[in-house]
Amino acid sequence: MSTIYLGTSQMTEKSWVASANDPGTDFPLQNLPFGVFRHGDRDRIGVAIGDRILDLDGCAQSGLLSALHEETLAACSANRLNSLMALGAAAWSAVRRQLTALLSAEQAGSETKNRVEPLLVSMRDASMQLPAAIGDYTDFYASIHHATRVGKLFRPDNPLLPNYKYVPIGYHGRASSIVVSGTEIRRPCGQIKPEGAEPVFAPSHRLDYELEVGIFVGPANSLGEPIPIAEAEQHIFGLCLVNDWSARDIQSWEYQPLGPFLAKDFATTISPWIVPLEALAPYRVPAFKRPEGDPAPLAYLRSPAANRDGIDLTLEVYLQSAKMQQAGAAPVMLSRGNLRDLYWSIAQLIAHHASNGCNLQAGDLLATGTISGPGAGSEGCLLEMQHNPQPIQLPGGESRMFLEDGDQVTFRAFASREGLPRIGFGECSGTVIGAAHA
Ligand code: MN
Repeated sequence: MSTIYLGTSQMTEKSWVASANDPGTDFPLQNLPFGVFRHGDRDRIGVAIGDRILDLDGCAQSGLLSALHEETLAACSANRLNSLMALGAAAWSAVRRQLTALLSAEQAGSETKNRVEPLLVSMRDASMQLPAAIGDYTDFYASIHHATRVGKLFRPDNPLLPNYKYVPIGYHGRASSIVVSGTEIRRPCGQIKPEGAEPVFAPSHRLDYELEVGIFVGPANSLGEPIPIAEAEQHIFGLCLVNDWSARDIQSWEYQPLGPFLAKDFATTISPWIVPLEALAPYRVPAFKRPEGDPAPLAYLRSPAANRDGIDLTLEVYLQSAKMQQAGAAPVMLSRGNLRDLYWSIAQLIAHHASNGCNLQAGDLLATGTISGPGAGSEGCLLEMQHNPQPIQLPGGESRMFLEDGDQVTFRAFASREGLPRIGFGECSGTVIGAAHA
């Protein structure tokens, strides 16, 4: 298996980078997420440590990664993560072991520390880029709570379609409009059909977010060769946050019979740091327990590791309007959910996607679909809150049904457990700006 459980000493080990030991940091020594940053005029691969980024090309050039294989070393010096993703779990683990050794508190006062320190860049001085050249993007619908709540809006008596408990439902999205956190999101225009009237072409006035987790694909499978579910996680490089921005008024008019199209593909935001599955190993939990009476998954979706296919990852949505920002009001939390509530595990999504022989490639992005929990306060998008009698109230007297221009939506995520450092995902954030032909 790709995932290695660390010994207790490694799970609590400190770094000589002081900010990495702050209990509130997303990026302790045990996380080491991969990303691509621009500093000066060059894009480089880095890993996050506290409030710094360690420059991997710099480490490679300085001979600090000489224990790695030549091709791994070359992949660390690239300007996107695709080559490293393609190498597989053994290579990723080797890089992490090297970096852990370089950044460990045991190096305090050493010559190694003196060589590594100049290769740390402050996050404030770097701009994060897309981590990979994303060839293909697929979005699933893996939360039964989301599917049920949304289904209820359209079919109160029969919210869940009959295929849901058998098929991990998904659609092919668009890779070209995936942007990194911080990119402004222009309100899309499209065909909208008012109730009882002819359709018009106009700016969407029901703009929504969708809280999702992204899965970056590692090693490819060959065209025609499925990925057995027992091997599915070996094809996962790591996880990030995804906002699948959605124009509900465009969506409700265009989606039949072929599914999402222009209501979704105008922009998708991802967080810049990819958290390796290895870093999430201590937070694995059993897969979603199907209620009594639900069908068992078909054999190709039945995991031998179902007792740890889930991930206990808390996910949060925050909103700050332009008015709140001007008044200095902090973002408000709109909802909180957990990745473990998904009906379909990440291994099942990979195995299903490749089950027909479709070839996944290094750097492809799969997203889970909106992650919602069973209760109020865990809705992963605004659409699910439409049944509330009151619109969302914001500090300063504003209210929201859907997003307004100037609204900033930020997702955060973290895994935590007593006695272990918290593993965070950083931010997935975007601000809505006015439509092009308002
Ligand atoms: Mn979605």
